[in-house]
Amino acid sequence: MGRKGGRRSQGALLFGMDRRHFNGLAATGLMGLNLRPQAWFDLLSDQNLEVDGPRLNQRMRELESFGANAAGGIDRVAFSDANIEALDWMAGLLVESGFSPSIDFAGNLIARKPGSSPELPSIMLGSHIDSVPGGGNYDGQVGSMGALEVAATLADAAYTTRHPLEVSIFSNEEGGKTGSRALAGEVETFELDIVTASGFTIGDGIQRLGGNPDRLEEVRRTDGSAEAFLELHIEQGAVLDADEIDIGVVEGIVGIMRWTVIVDGSTNHAGTTPMDRRSDAMVGAARFIDLVHTTARRMPGRQVATVGRLEAEPGAPNVIPGRVTMTLEIRDLSMAGIERVFNEISGNTARITEETGTHLSFQRFYTSRAAPTAMWIREIIETSAQGLSLSTHRMPSGAGHDAQSIALFAPVGMIFIPSVAGVSHAPDEHTTPQDVVNGANVLLQTLLELDER
Ligand SMILES: [Zn+2]
Repeated sequence: MGRKGGRRSQGALLFGMDRRHFNGLAATGLMGLNLRPQAWFDLLSDQNLEVDGPRLNQRMRELESFGANAAGGIDRVAFSDANIEALDWMAGLLVESGFSPSIDFAGNLIARKPGSSPELPSIMLGSHIDSVPGGGNYDGQVGSMGALEVAATLADAAYTTRHPLEVSIFSNEEGGKTGSRALAGEVETFELDIVTASGFTIGDGIQRLGGNPDRLEEVRRTDGSAEAFLELHIEQGAVLDADEIDIGVVEGIVGIMRWTVIVDGSTNHAGTTPMDRRSDAMVGAARFIDLVHTTARRMPGRQVATVGRLEAEPGAPNVIPGRVTMTLEIRDLSMAGIERVFNEISGNTARITEETGTHLSFQRFYTSRAAPTAMWIREIIETSAQGLSLSTHRMPSGAGHDAQSIALFAPVGMIFIPSVAGVSHAPDEHTTPQDVVNGANVLLQTLLELDER
């Protein structure tokens, strides 16, 4: 790809750099202000700072070699040798950029660099490099290498931020966000015994990385201990790709609630029971599934609702099912939104049970809290993208991310870049080199803007 800017930048390119600077200055709200000359200089030099795209993409390719599989994807599951070797390699790159890396007790690779105002809280950036079994080369990796590229760009320019910087590569994201949740004090003791895809328990895995599962409590951060956390990530969905948008400004990570739904009817002979004398639990279930789908579509908002599993008993071709057990899952950016959708669904089941002669009950078994991103960081991300002539779109994240844990103690911002055809957690996962560079540049500009505040 030879294009410098975004997919929709043709018009802007006519104006070249001038238009770009104009956008940047107008967007930061500083046009017409009477700034001292040094401030203008700082602003212009911030605007000029750009990541080294070829280096970033070259390093993305190098990262692929750790745990590469025959399908073109990776098996770099948390705590595997490939995971450990890749972290070693990244620690070396961080040293080259003037950072001091170390592994904390939770197995996170944390690299720090002092700022010019040591009393300020640090700005954190990062993501994860562990994968699902048979994963792709972009999930977590774009944000991790993007953070390393920002670190390298600042080092090349001999640019010192005011805030201390902290690059974090979190441990075991795919197996339960262990590293980032440890910083929020959320990891429970029983989790350490869970066996992960590596074959090691989380506790043993943390030790393999160089951490200490007995001292997790010590990595816990306090409220306000960080100025902000920024995570660049692939969308893992098809919205940006389909709509040809460069940058997704994440409004938050959606909350999730799941219920077991049981429909009770009467088991009976499928040949001898007339159609008007049945209490068919499967028919009740079918109507319920339709109710879930139509309710989530009809209500205003961007909630999603899914019946993902269904089991009929006794489950024979010649027997009317007497019981169907299903799952209901609802996701939304606000927990109140989830409850509204649930109330609307559960409040409309009376007609189904009446007409089908069945009984329906709900039991909630899982809740994951929604994690909104900070409003002011969303605005900075947008402004930064616009300054680079990149198109933006505000959107929720339907998948979980490390940022969701960090949001429990610090303001967070998330930058999405397109996933080709929305494919993720598979070897075919792909994001174009230009989009990777775009994302890293937005990460860099957002960091610099945050640092000025
Ligand atoms: Zn991820």
